[in-house]
Amino acid sequence: MANPAQEIKFTKLFINNEFVDSQSGKTFPTINPANGKKIADVSEGSKEDVDIAVKAAQKAFELSSEWRSLDGSARGKLMNRFADLIERDANILANIETLDNGKSFDDSLFDIQMSCDTLRYYAGFCDKIHGNSIPSDGNMFSYTRKEPIGVVGQIIPWNYSILMISWKFGPALAAGCVIILKPAQQTPLSALYIAALSKEAGFPNGVINVINGYGDTGSAIAAHPDIQKVAFTGSIKVGKLVMETAAKTNLKKVSLELGGKSPLVVLDDANLDDAVEAAHNGIFSNAGQNCCAASKTYVQEGIYEKFVLKAAEMARNRKVGSGFEKDIQQGPQIDQAMFDRIMTFIEYGKSDGATLEAGGKRWGNEGYFIEPTVFSNVTEDMKIAQEEIFGPVQSILKFKTLDEVIQRANKSDFGLAAGIFTNNINDAMKFAHSVQAGSVWVNTYDAVTPQTPFGGYKQSGIGRELGMEGLEPYLEVKSVSIKLPAKY
Ligand code: NAD
Repeated sequence: MANPAQEIKFTKLFINNEFVDSQSGKTFPTINPANGKKIADVSEGSKEDVDIAVKAAQKAFELSSEWRSLDGSARGKLMNRFADLIERDANILANIETLDNGKSFDDSLFDIQMSCDTLRYYAGFCDKIHGNSIPSDGNMFSYTRKEPIGVVGQIIPWNYSILMISWKFGPALAAGCVIILKPAQQTPLSALYIAALSKEAGFPNGVINVINGYGDTGSAIAAHPDIQKVAFTGSIKVGKLVMETAAKTNLKKVSLELGGKSPLVVLDDANLDDAVEAAHNGIFSNAGQNCCAASKTYVQEGIYEKFVLKAAEMARNRKVGSGFEKDIQQGPQIDQAMFDRIMTFIEYGKSDGATLEAGGKRWGNEGYFIEPTVFSNVTEDMKIAQEEIFGPVQSILKFKTLDEVIQRANKSDFGLAAGIFTNNINDAMKFAHSVQAGSVWVNTYDAVTPQTPFGGYKQSGIGRELGMEGLEPYLEVKSVSIKLPAKY
């Protein structure tokens, strides 16, 4: 049951299976975005705390350690138990997430279920990660081993805090790595609760560590000489910094999941109501704070006017409010900074000449709520068509032909996702194979599943998460060749 008075038990750093104060003793407040009030003070980690956590993780990763000695199947059981405990405490976790992030209680529950699915998907890999035997030249027996990369740093954003933990933990634990996680400063609470569940599940000391903090804590992870890999989800600007820091220090491996400006294309022959609804959910779900949000809705000229009318009506009917209220579809933006940024983009939309069809204002008089906003007559030169807004702002553009829209969709620095609505299989296939995006959805949108790899072309990222491909960033491949007396 949704409960805004949820007790917050865990606010410290989680190192070596214990909750501890930061070395500096510093804390920072975490804020409820629905009313701008403080929920709790949380320990703020720094470089010293990252050092301590890395030492604990290194110990957990020593060859003879409990973690390294576990059978793959036992590791899988541990991960399944972890998922079971998250599911057991889904209501508590959903309350924490809704308090800290603002999303609706039902959306929090949905994220939690998908997180459990992701952990279970990767749990199944634990005893199936293996190399090949190779017919190499000469009198040689050669084979490959896939080994865990070691201590990994994982830096995540606030928009899907629980889900991002599962996307990061799932493949890392399945591969046998040990983890230093830094949650976003806006949403540390769910990560700390999940850390407590990891201990209850039975992960050995030092396998999972959580260091709360701001950008400099993330930077200490990116720079650490004993961290072998860093996985980052967040903005392009910080992604580039993480990569630069990794290159300048120990050249740790880097995977990045960054932003997007994703096109959803609706052809004249599409089922109009389905397309309007998918485009609506594609941009407004999670209050638009979604890296693969359908932030450019391209509609073919024959149905453009009808589409705009229906899209605006749907936006006006969207139920905005506190995530703890029943049937809420849209909560607040995460903080004042994002609220201000989105309102600035809405002003750009107006001054650049787009037509405001719905919304455009602050909603309510406390917290960081914004009305679901729809602009029509948006053109490629407008700021709202070019930059990632990360808010509830739908931009509807008009096009004539499929070839034209493919070209326009590909003229972008981003390439995270794309969608098309049509009843013509040839047009759907042409689009799916021509658009430069890591995920393409046909007659649906945002259909992310644990089984399907996810990641970006161009500046939307490096590497893939989810699916079998999601394991690769956490594994090293070792070739072993043994000389034989003869060829047999
Ligand atoms: P952000 O890049 O500012 O922050 C993300 C994380 O990085 C936070 O934990 C933050 O504390 C940390 N960080 C900040 N400065 C750092 C530094 N110098 N070194 C290391 N870590 C640092 O992003 P944000 O504004 O919190 O999140 C929104 C952005 O994230 C959007 O652009 C969105 O598209 C992107 N995003 C992408 C995906 C994806 O899967 N591709 C998912 C969610 C969000």
